[in-house]
Amino acid sequence: MTATTLGSLLYEGKAKRVFATDQSDVVAVEYKDDATAFNALKKAQLVGKGELNCQISARLFELLERNGIPTHYRALQKANWMLVRPMRIVPVEVVVRNTAFGSLCKQMPIEPGTPLDPPLLDLYYKDDAYGDPLLTDARLERLALLSADQRREMGRLAMAVNTCLRSFFADIGLQLVDFKIELGFSAEGELVVADEISPDTCRLWDLKVGDSSDRILDKDRFRQDLGGVVEAYGEVLKRVQGACPPPRLCK
Ligand code: UDP
Repeated sequence: MTATTLGSLLYEGKAKRVFATDQSDVVAVEYKDDATAFNALKKAQLVGKGELNCQISARLFELLERNGIPTHYRALQKANWMLVRPMRIVPVEVVVRNTAFGSLCKQMPIEPGTPLDPPLLDLYYKDDAYGDPLLTDARLERLALLSADQRREMGRLAMAVNTCLRSFFADIGLQLVDFKIELGFSAEGELVVADEISPDTCRLWDLKVGDSSDRILDKDRFRQDLGGVVEAYGEVLKRVQGACPPPRLCK
């Protein structure tokens, strides 16, 4: 990738900022240190989180690409910046669950920690004003965000991401409990994995640690006030780095 010059701010979300560049087919994403939970009711600055999530995401996007799963990622730019392809993001949070935890256990009579085989696919309408509600197939169809083929492709991509990430994380001693991805349409109309893949968006439990909060290496440390959030993300990056080649760098 050739060097880019930063342009105007296109979008600011809770954890990232997206900027135009001097190349129309490249946008720059800055990962922020801001942490939010519970629809932004809980907020904090966690110094170093942005860099850790960017470094983890870059390697996981490259892992997905090596496994034939298309993503928006192009290259790492610097510590907490990456270059990606511009996308039209589909406002659906695509969640895959391998183990019951979190909101699932608040909405259904299922014990936290129950294995889910086959994994459960849950779709949520991404809109804070509505509180990101769970979607039914009929509601998703009614929203007319995706054709029937594209809805099937979304499910297929989510399950392919799960298969790839679950086995990768298991090899580095981490249980992938669940995760959220977002998909976008590229300029060519291809549905690809966008946003980020990090301990902010994946539940990861240390397989070496027994059934206690010490095993939690993800954003639940922040949600549950367990402390050691940045340290936990650092441990995830250390293991991811040990199993992945260095990411592509923008020259
Ligand atoms: N998740 C996310 N962003 C959201 C909601 C959920 O990244 O806005 C992730 C969350 O970190 C977890 C998975 O999606 O890995 C499933 O989250 P869940 O539905 O259990 O919601 P939560 O318990 O986090 O409210």
